[in-house]
This record gives sequence, C-alpha cells and structure tokens, in this order.
Amino acid sequence: MTTDTPLKLFNSLTRQLEVFQPVHDGEARVYTCGPTVYNYPHIGNMRAYVFADVLGRTLSFKGYKLTHVINITDVGHLTDDADEGEDKMEKMAAEKAQSIWDIAQHYTQAYWADVKALNIRQPFKWSVATDYIDEMLEFAKQIAPKHCYELDSGLYFDVLTVADYGRLARAVTEDGEGRIEAVEGKRNAADFAIWRKTPPGEKRQMEWDSPWGKGAPGWHLECSVMGGKLLGFPFDIHTGGIDHREIHHPNEIAQNQAFCCTNGLDVAENSGARIWMHNNFLVERSGKMSKSAGEFLRLQLLIDKGYHQLAYRMMCLQAHYRSELEFSWEGLGAALTRLKRMVMAVQALTDADATSPEHPKFGPVREKFAAAMSDDLNTPIALTALEEALAVKKVDAGVKRAVIEEMDAVLGLNLFGFNRTDLRIRPKAATISEEEIEDALIRRKQARAEKDFATSDALRDEFAAKGVEVMDGDPLGWEWKLG
Ligand code: AMP
Ligand code: ZN
Repeated sequence: MTTDTPLKLFNSLTRQLEVFQPVHDGEARVYTCGPTVYNYPHIGNMRAYVFADVLGRTLSFKGYKLTHVINITDVGHLTDDADEGEDKMEKMAAEKAQSIWDIAQHYTQAYWADVKALNIRQPFKWSVATDYIDEMLEFAKQIAPKHCYELDSGLYFDVLTVADYGRLARAVTEDGEGRIEAVEGKRNAADFAIWRKTPPGEKRQMEWDSPWGKGAPGWHLECSVMGGKLLGFPFDIHTGGIDHREIHHPNEIAQNQAFCCTNGLDVAENSGARIWMHNNFLVERSGKMSKSAGEFLRLQLLIDKGYHQLAYRMMCLQAHYRSELEFSWEGLGAALTRLKRMVMAVQALTDADATSPEHPKFGPVREKFAAAMSDDLNTPIALTALEEALAVKKVDAGVKRAVIEEMDAVLGLNLFGFNRTDLRIRPKAATISEEEIEDALIRRKQARAEKDFATSDALRDEFAAKGVEVMDGDPLGWEWKLG
C-alpha cells in the first residue's frame, strides 16, 4: 500500500537515519544473527527476533520483495569473546552427557516454538552453520594469504589488514577496546579466530579437516559466509542485538572487506551490507538479563504464570527498538490489558468481510501509521494509530476490518486470531480448572437471582480460597482472574 513516505532506518555504521535504498530494485535482502542453540532463549533474545520480524513485515508493507535469512549457530560460539574458553555447544553437551547434535536439535525446536508463539514470520531460510562448513573453508582459504596468520591454536585474522576496523563499534584499534588479549602470540588484541584448531590429544565432537588442521570455524566466519552466500554481497540490511555492534559485527565486516577486496568504510556497502541495525536490550531491574543468574525469563515462564505470549510481543512493540526496555510483571500485565482492549474492539468486526481500506475516514490514521513505521519502525506511535482506527465511529465494519488487518499485518499481534477469553490470566499452578470456575459462576449467578445469599456467599469464599478473584462488572470484561 502506502509507499509514498520513504522508509528511513537508523544505520549503526553511520549512526544516522538513512532512506532505505535497495541494492536490487524492489527487493529487500536481510540477514539476522540467530541464536546459539546451546540453551533456551530468554525473552531478551526473543526481542531481537520480534524486532527483525517487524522490520521484515514493514519492508513487505512498503512493497519490497523480502528475502530474510536467520542463522542457527550450532558450532563456534565460545563462552568468552576473547577467543578463549570453550565452545558453548561442546560445553552444554558435556554437561548434559548428550551429543551436540541432540542438544542443537532440542534447543532449535524450543527456539522455533517461541518464534511461532510470538507470531514471528518464517524467514526465507533458516541457515544452519554446520551445513556451510565447506563454504567457510573456501572463504577462509581465499582471505588467508593477505589477512590471516597461523598460531598453534588456530588461524587468526589480522585486523590491521583492513581499513577502518572497528568503525561500527567506534572502537580504537590500537587499544583493542573491549577485549582482553587472551591468546598468546596474537598480533593485535582485536585479532580473532577464523579457524580454531583442536588442541593436540583432544577430540571434539564437532571437528572438520582444514588446511590448518582439524578444528572448527570461528563464530564470526559463519555469519559472513552464510550472509554472502545466501544474499550476495552487498545485501541490504544486517540485524542483531546491540552487543553485536561491539565485536561480532565489526569482525564480520572485517572479513567481508577482506573477501570482497573493498577498502575503507566511508561507503557503507563496503562492509558487506548497506545498513546495520541493532535492537537495544531487554533488561531486568537488577541489570543484565541472564540465562544462569536469578529467574530464567523464558517465554514459557510467562505462559506458565498465566500470561498470553502475545502480551510479550505487545510489550516489545510499546518501546522503540533502539530504546532499552525494562521487563517487569506489572509492565507485562499492562501490555496484556492493552492487547485485550484491542481484541475486544476487534471482536465486533469479526463477522464482517474485509473490503478495501481506502476510505476518507481512515485516510489520516492510515497516513499516521505508515509515517510512524517509515520513521525507523516507530511501533509505539503505530500502536496508537491502530487504536485510533479502532475508535473511528459510524463506518462500515468491512472497511474498518480491512484497515485493522492492514496494520496488524505489520505489527503482527494476530488480533483476529484469538478472542478475549484466550487472554485470561491462568497460571499453570492453579488448583481450579476453567470449567470449574465457569460452572461455579453460573451457580453463583443463579443463587443471586433467587436471592439465595447463603449459597452465593459460600461460593465467593470458595473462589477466594482457590485464588479466584471474581470481577463483577469489570469494564474490560474480565469476569474473573486467577492471581
Ligand atoms: P545469542 O543466542 O546469545 O547469540 O543471542 C541471540 C540474539 O539476542 C542476539 O542478536 C543478541 O544480540 C540478542 N540479545 C541477547 N541478549 C539480549 C537482551 N537482553 N535483549 C535483547 N536482545 C538480546
Ligand atoms: Zn552473526
């Protein structure tokens, strides 16, 4: 639909808003750094994919043919950024006494379940790192003579062989900012492993032959290889969480420069992609979100506590992707209430057949929506536009439905996909079933109609004992709540 307002996106490389200009006419090719499948994703990780999904949906909305690749890292990601430490996958496999392939399989499925639950669209391709080992070796062989050197522990990339190393991070190369010179013999502190050799006498579960001995690829190499192979250099947009702006993506960029034989980064596409985008973190009040310390905030935990998973998507959309977002249960509850209001308003439209959204009454609000999304994905404003569209009075339900569908295709809240009773807060640990509650509510209603207050009071006490709060006359139509 509205392609008039140009799409502006914030490019981390230039630290500026830029008008999106596709490399290939009418197309948008996007690469998103995916999860390392050694553990369940926490909801902070999922924020990165909700963001990438909103970006993809917006590009589709603007009329571009989207090719989106998300990788699955099943090898190479170390527990430590300084090229020391263990491979996260090997470590978890050893801890669980399972094969890496089983670990990868299990956590990939768990990640995909969260992707589906959050209504994140399927990308064009999920690229699995271990499927691209041959391509990684080819890539490494090509850049090795001019850009790499060998140590006992592996093949390393010399970051001084490319211009503007670290520009994305705004890091100063000489200081190797943010790094520890962990590997002995490295020329520069910021140099990183392209290939890690298996130490003599050791056997890794995942290892491959290479010109530099048996070993495994470096994590940064994977993304360069899969991005270039599947989307072609330069492609349009590369995304990831803000932490990747500091090390992972500068290293990818250095490899891309080496591979493409491009020089300085004053021209953004010399980096391998025209635009680099980063979502900010979801944090807890106590600080950084973690998989090990404190409560492990998985999407499933939210669901077990009784929150509909799309309340979390709503929570993400309520903040701009470049702002830090603090998670709280109160915040999640508020997002759920907002979602519920929308779903209730939408329920009045479900009987209508969508017609065309083109209608003068919706002109301004559709314009506002398109302008917000075009302004670096301003979802907080877009949500208010959707609410304004729902509040437009005296219009044909079919037109309104078409407008809401059009907006929801971008925001992905699946507003027509469920109803308000699906949004009830129902903790898994509840000792009373939904049927029992409904049944007792009917009995209570009957008792009240018959002025049998003894029964109605007894039922109220029974509800209270089981943690059910009856909400008579609640404007949002929550008849009851489990708390
Ligand atoms: P990982 O599996 O650790 O590689 O992380 C997957 C994605 O989640 C990456 O894009 C990270 O940058 C991103 N990420 C990690 N922690 C958070 C967080 N707390 N909030 C938002 N994104 C995050
Ligand atoms: Zn990556």
